[in-house]
Amino acid sequence: VKNLTRIFDVSKPWLNRLLEGKPKAFLQAVSDVSFDIEERSVYALVGESGSGKSTIGKMIVHLLRPSDGVIEIGGVDLLREPDRQRVDKIRTDIQMVFQDPYASLNPRWRVRDIIAEPVTARGGKAEGLAEHLLEQVGLSAADAGKYPHEFSGGQRQRICIARALASEPKLIVCDEPTSALDVSVQAQVLNLMSDLKEEFGLTYLFISHDLTVVEHMADRIGVLYLGRLVEEAPRDVLFADPKHPYTQMLFAAAPKLDGFGREVEPPKGEIPDPINPPSGCAYHPRCPKAVARCTLERPEMRDLGGNRVACHLAE
Ligand code: SF4
Ligand code: MG
Repeated sequence: VKNLTRIFDVSKPWLNRLLEGKPKAFLQAVSDVSFDIEERSVYALVGESGSGKSTIGKMIVHLLRPSDGVIEIGGVDLLREPDRQRVDKIRTDIQMVFQDPYASLNPRWRVRDIIAEPVTARGGKAEGLAEHLLEQVGLSAADAGKYPHEFSGGQRQRICIARALASEPKLIVCDEPTSALDVSVQAQVLNLMSDLKEEFGLTYLFISHDLTVVEHMADRIGVLYLGRLVEEAPRDVLFADPKHPYTQMLFAAAPKLDGFGREVEPPKGEIPDPINPPSGCAYHPRCPKAVARCTLERPEMRDLGGNRVACHLAE
């Protein structure tokens, strides 16, 4: 992903009439985001709600069109490649698993048809495919004839994962895949996803606000704030030595599974209005280290050898 940007026009029709040609309200949900995902690795995007994580995921699976930037898979620029058949073929290599396994399964369809749909929709044959994939995700082939309401939340997310696997994808975008599930089921589903990744040689873009989940899953982590990447590093580097004050705040606010007696500080300050983001470094109103320069000048992403950080004081 290079310089990926998405702008939403959020002005209301009545407001447009009122403004009569004056600037409309734009929300820059994703601004100039660049990162690489290595094949067969897990790249995690973390940040609070409204940070642009899901918007990036949706652009990569082609549910949303970027306003600007490049999405490239195996050297093919998906937005500019003139051979559209080639692009369509690559798009079947990218699937998505959504946050809410209740909302993302058609209640009127049998599980067999739900799982096979990515294949049958393109005219492919799917004999026995659902039964095979149900076993791969820890359910039983006999479940193929049932309807979604006959399953628990964790089982439904397994069905969603089976559906994502049907077209033999290379990359799966997982948008908070376990955050709607009971804590007791989350670990099982995450372990399943890790196992499937090894077995099928998958690559994940893993979107989450939950640092314990990210620590468990990710090889590399990008931290988003108000639509911009503020820090990026291999997991172990980021967890050992977060450089950006926002990343440090996220870690301070995260409950730790093994951290008995460790004090958890709630996130400080309000997330600013994304339609009128703060000047300079957008984090400056909340940043305990902010200096005068921070309100004036936006920090560029810089490589500090290990971490890439967008902060004037990162050194
Ligand atoms: Fe804080 Fe300034 Fe760094 Fe932004 S650039 S994170 S305001 S110190
Ligand atoms: Mg989201």
